[in-house]
Amino acid sequence: MSAPFIAGNWKMNGLGADLAEAKALADDLATRPAGVRVALCPPATLIWRMAQALKGSAVEVGGQSCSAEPHGAFTGDVSAGMLVDAGARLVILGHSERRGGHFETDAQIQAKALAAMAAGLEPIVCVGESLEQRQAGEAVEVVSSQITGSIAAQMASGPFAVAYEPIWAIGTGLTPTLDQIEAIHLAIGAALKAVVGDSVASKPILYGGSVKPSNAADILKTPGVGGALVGGASLKAADFLGIIRAA
Ligand code: PEP
Repeated sequence: MSAPFIAGNWKMNGLGADLAEAKALADDLATRPAGVRVALCPPATLIWRMAQALKGSAVEVGGQSCSAEPHGAFTGDVSAGMLVDAGARLVILGHSERRGGHFETDAQIQAKALAAMAAGLEPIVCVGESLEQRQAGEAVEVVSSQITGSIAAQMASGPFAVAYEPIWAIGTGLTPTLDQIEAIHLAIGAALKAVVGDSVASKPILYGGSVKPSNAADILKTPGVGGALVGGASLKAADFLGIIRAA
């Protein structure tokens, strides 16, 4: 079994001064290695500086989205190759804040994932149901269809991860029960296997949504959970380390 993968999503938070938190995280992990794979995904403006600050450390750096296009007249967008050039190794794709706020579709997310992998990035593809869908008993159907639409068969040959992030658990302090997490991770594994075959074994399925130091141990030992995608609690080194050390 591979080491748990814990990735932090800083969203639209962080200025130059906050790189001190990333540095504190890396310094702590250098003193006391955790046996966990760790990444931070800051806003695009900080990727280069964070990658420089963390060079040689155990903490990888990623982006939070990328264009499916390599270059051109796409004002405000950043290509996968640009993220690599800035020092990123990973990219979060299809976060519910992108699906909801920027109307990203499964097909667009799949195109972004293929572009990211072609550029040498490892995508973390997010899926998750809304509260209404969960209450209507549609959670498995929704995430399975997001997997089928967002993941391409040719992704089998490269590294990528999936993050199950129920929309109603993001930033709310609410989390599904451990049984609910296990059931959805099982369903995601099955949907993923139908697309990428046996390579599914090498694709971690992370849980995301209100993970904090106090609930991380239980969530991370839930069958099928290969790590965590962490929003708010990744902003401060002490909180994020509390999650990492719980793995
Ligand atoms: C996220 O946005 O990816 C996330 C999981 O946020 P939070 O941990 O703050 O719920």
